Amino acid sequence: MRVLLIEDEQGIAKPLAKILEKNGLPTDSVYDGLSGYIQAQKEIYDVIILDLMLPEMDGIEVLKRIRNADIHTPVLVLTAKDTLDDKIYGLEIGADDYMSKPFYPTEVVARVRALARRKDNRIHDIDQLSFEDIALDCVNATIVVAGKPESLTAKESHILELLMKNAGNVISKDHLLDSVWGVDSEATENTVEIYIHYLRKKLENSERAKIVTSRGLGYSLRSL
Ligand code: CA
Repeated sequence: MRVLLIEDEQGIAKPLAKILEKNGLPTDSVYDGLSGYIQAQKEIYDVIILDLMLPEMDGIEVLKRIRNADIHTPVLVLTAKDTLDDKIYGLEIGADDYMSKPFYPTEVVARVRALARRKDNRIHDIDQLSFEDIALDCVNATIVVAGKPESLTAKESHILELLMKNAGNVISKDHLLDSVWGVDSEATENTVEIYIHYLRKKLENSERAKIVTSRGLGYSLRSL
């Protein structure tokens, strides 16, 4: 679980990040819109908290670009602009929730948790994924690689789903552990390595894609 906080007012950002962390929500803070947009592409977050009035690039533009970049992380917009028009506009262009300043930090924590849960529930919304010559049926945990069908375990399917949804981007072992095994699981990085090993075997007939290891960072699914 990881939160990206994009807020320029340090008097708001610092205490909010502290409270999020205290509630088990590790938070990366950036203080302008452009850095926020760049950071959102660099790492995978479970929730993004986004202020609208930001230097370098305003929040609406950040949100638009994030969605254009196919990043579907739930976004909680946090802003002093609390007119109805702004809310509707924000939601229309892809915000998932909206909070007006001033706010109670505990309410932000509750909403971030709710958004993260929604994201987890949504993971099986898409039944079929494909990348190059690999097709994944998420519901039945089966793949077709270069025309040949093969079955996966539930965890292999979940890992591949994350890799396919984020194709080309590196996913850390930590993120895989949290998403596939759950935050409270006793699985270790070694467990992830073993599953990646199995998954690679099942994908070895692919002529157009493979799982690439980025040492110390994680894994990505890439075109050959
Ligand atoms: Ca601001």
